[in-house]
Amino acid sequence: MNFSSKLLENAVNEVSQLPGIGKRTALRLVLHLLKQPTTQTHQLSNALTSLVDKIKLCKKCHNISDVDVCEICANPSRNSEIICVVEDVRDVMAIENTSQFKGLYHVLGGKISPIEGVGPHNLSIDSLIEKVKSGTIKEIIFALSSTIEGDTTNFYIFKQLEKFKVNTSTIARGIAVGDELEYADEITLGRSIINRIPFEKSF
Ligand SMILES: [Zn+2]
Repeated sequence: MNFSSKLLENAVNEVSQLPGIGKRTALRLVLHLLKQPTTQTHQLSNALTSLVDKIKLCKKCHNISDVDVCEICANPSRNSEIICVVEDVRDVMAIENTSQFKGLYHVLGGKISPIEGVGPHNLSIDSLIEKVKSGTIKEIIFALSSTIEGDTTNFYIFKQLEKFKVNTSTIARGIAVGDELEYADEITLGRSIINRIPFEKSF
């Protein structure tokens, strides 16, 4: 692409780093931003700057949060004896949308995937084990998507938890194998949490 402006070229190059965005789409988006009122484009760039500068991970559940302890963990009406293990913030949002779960979450930050070089120590598994060790947790619900990576991760954690007195369950598979949680509709996902089954019976 031959650009008439270095500034335009830089902006297009940055936008084209985003997943699924090629150079042509990046150019279209950048030209669109240029046509917007300046204040609107400033608001976008300010929102992105604030996001990367100020975003935190909740100290307790590792969910994305504006404060040290997220709203869910800080809410005294949530049941802190039940922890739902999920991959990332999208899963927390999907489950919260069902209004069927009143426990707390533990966000792993990914799934074990040897192909992508993600091992157990790249995920927040140790802090989950520490929580269970403290003895106040009665149930761990696995709510990872049922892909090979999700199943591997569930099983790894299950093995680590075997020596502790904690019940483990997995969400019922109204959710088809390979589906990502965030794509499940709210009623199906809500039911699958209510009808969860003991983890040992899930293999
Ligand atoms: Zn939290």
